[in-house]
Amino acid sequence: MSFAYQNKKLMCEGMAVAAIAAQAGTPCYLYSAHQFRENFGAYRNAFLGADATICFAVKACSNIAILKLLGTAGAGADTVSGGEIRRALLAGIAPEKIIFSGVGKTEDEIALALESGIGQLNVESPEELEIVDGIAAARRAKARISLRVNPDVDAGTHEKISTGRKSDKFGIPWPEVWETYQEARTLSHLEVEGVACHIGSQITDLAPFEAAFAKVTDLARELQADGFRLRRIDLGGGLGIQYRDETAVDVGDYAAAVMQSVRPLGLQLFLEPGRSIGASAGALISEVQFIKHAEGRSFAVLDAGMNDLARPAIYGAYHEIIPVRQGDPAESYDVVGPVCESSDIFGTNRRLPRLAAGDLVAILNAGAYGAAMSSNYNTRSLPPEILVEGDQCKVIRERQRFEDIIALERY
Ligand SMILES: *Cc1c(COP(=O)(O)O)cnc(C)c1O
Repeated sequence: MSFAYQNKKLMCEGMAVAAIAAQAGTPCYLYSAHQFRENFGAYRNAFLGADATICFAVKACSNIAILKLLGTAGAGADTVSGGEIRRALLAGIAPEKIIFSGVGKTEDEIALALESGIGQLNVESPEELEIVDGIAAARRAKARISLRVNPDVDAGTHEKISTGRKSDKFGIPWPEVWETYQEARTLSHLEVEGVACHIGSQITDLAPFEAAFAKVTDLARELQADGFRLRRIDLGGGLGIQYRDETAVDVGDYAAAVMQSVRPLGLQLFLEPGRSIGASAGALISEVQFIKHAEGRSFAVLDAGMNDLARPAIYGAYHEIIPVRQGDPAESYDVVGPVCESSDIFGTNRRLPRLAAGDLVAILNAGAYGAAMSSNYNTRSLPPEILVEGDQCKVIRERQRFEDIIALERY
């Protein structure tokens, strides 16, 4: 654990969280370089010996310094927009280790992907096949594509992060997959290289993965038998983490399930984990502004809001909240933000030491879908991001100034 107490003081690696917050101000995101490397390393080790590329899902934590750290450790990048492709390239990730997925790619984004020579474009509909073929033709190039198929399994995850059921908008519907592959092979500017799927996020059970892998590897085998010269299979991301009392799937068990399905095919393997690499490596640090009592409840009002960390408000997600100065739980608080929305709540009935204005708390497991989802709602500045390594830290994104927020407005 890279966030732990030492002499009752919360540390991030070798640095006191309170000291960093005093320098950087609050709210701020803190990341542990060590934890990022360890989480990535768990994947790398689990797939050692396989021809596997672990492509970090950039949307989980998009800061270029983080992408650079992971890229240096050997990661590729899974991207879902032109902007994310550009981030990955700026981070020095080799184009051939970049995957581009997404249901609504624009022509500009597809052109950027082809020009940058990224390794894999995941096509998600027959219409998109023709568009990609047309853009490649205009450039006298060949687009290396995989089809993202929807294996129609229910990952049993949250409604808003499920992607692999037939009712979800993602991927090519299972009954249309074969036909779409046949169409793809008739288009002369496409190189059909693989099969891709991604069934959802925060999945804490191996069974849906196994069901999807079985379907997708069967498909790959049938395609090979039909003469497709496949090079790769991409099994997406989605491994869940323990936010509260879930039991996360062990990366080793996951790898064993993947290998069992994929190894006989002799294909390159691509994976797209995001949350399971980023989440535990980050925390949002916030200062208590007021303690407010109403209707017999105690509210701890923070200077962080749903614009800084949206998951509780959007998904009803649970994030553990701990004091930066350790003490015995003495009170129950509803921990809330200042944003004018009743969903701006980080947690209810949280047992914490008695808090007062000026005290700091850490909202844990915020390293994935935290800063990356932050917004300017209520004209609040994006918080800074700080990367800690041992007893050193550096600001990897400055706090946004008011002038930056309004810079593009004309009045
Ligand atoms: C979001 C996403 C991922 C990452 O999912 P995690 O649950 O964070 O591992 C991978 N692939 C695609 C296509 C995605 O959209």
